[in-house]
Parts: sequence; C-alpha cells; structure tokens
Amino acid sequence: MGEKTLFSRIIDGEIPAEKVYEDDDYCAFRDIHPAAPEHVLIVPKKVIPKLTDATAADRDVLGGLLLTANKVASLLGIAETGFRCVINCGKDGGQEVDHLHLHLLGGRLLGWPPG
Ligand code: AMP
Repeated sequence: MGEKTLFSRIIDGEIPAEKVYEDDDYCAFRDIHPAAPEHVLIVPKKVIPKLTDATAADRDVLGGLLLTANKVASLLGIAETGFRCVINCGKDGGQEVDHLHLHLLGGRLLGWPPG
C-alpha cells in the first residue's frame, strides 16, 4: 500500500474539512479555496487516481458519483437554480490531487468557457 491520498486522510478524519455529506461510498466536503459560493468536492472512497485510470469495473463508482452530485446539490439548495460538475484530469486538466473527485459548483451564474 502506498501513502494515503490527501482526500483519504480527510475522509478518515485525519485532516479537518467541512463535510457536507457522507455515505458508504462517497464523501463530500467544502473546497478549501472555493471558486463559487457553493464549491464542494465529492470523492469516491475507492481511490481511483484519475478519470483515465477508471475501468469498466468502476462503472458503478462513476455513475454513483453523478447521482451523489444530484443529492448534494439538493442538500445545498442549488438543485433548482443549477450547478456545474467538473472533473479535472491530468496536467492540462489542472488536476492537483491524484484521487478522483468531482467539483460541484453553484450559488452564482457561472461563466463559460472555463479558463
Ligand atoms: P483538482 O485541481 O481538481 O485536483 O482539485 C483539487 C482541489 O482540492 C482544489 O480545488 C483545492 O482547493 C482542494 N483542496 C486542496 N486541499 C484541500 C483541503 N485540505 N481541504 C479541502 N479542499 C482542498
């Protein structure tokens, strides 16, 4: 086993974070550098370093990730006003933490295209 990822340490309570949702398979907590009034990271507890590492065996993990985004958006009260889901992958995608996660952003009108 390699070192635990930053997000696994947050999930395990070793590093503090403001968790907004958790179940057996996912944990959602507020991004430490919010890019919108609501900016939550939704992280599968199964460590998949990046999206391109996911395989057909991860179909349920990936599908559940989007359904969890819906659930968390409802909890945050932004399901009706709308929100954006972002998965950064690799260097050009701007991925900083090698533990697959989905950014859920909302609470204001978001510009497009992203930078
Ligand atoms: P990414 O660039 O897609 O890998 O996103 C990583 C995100 O993790 C960034 O938006 C960071 O602000 C966020 N982040 C880094 N450290 C923490 C932390 N300790 N608690 C919450 N969010 C964090």
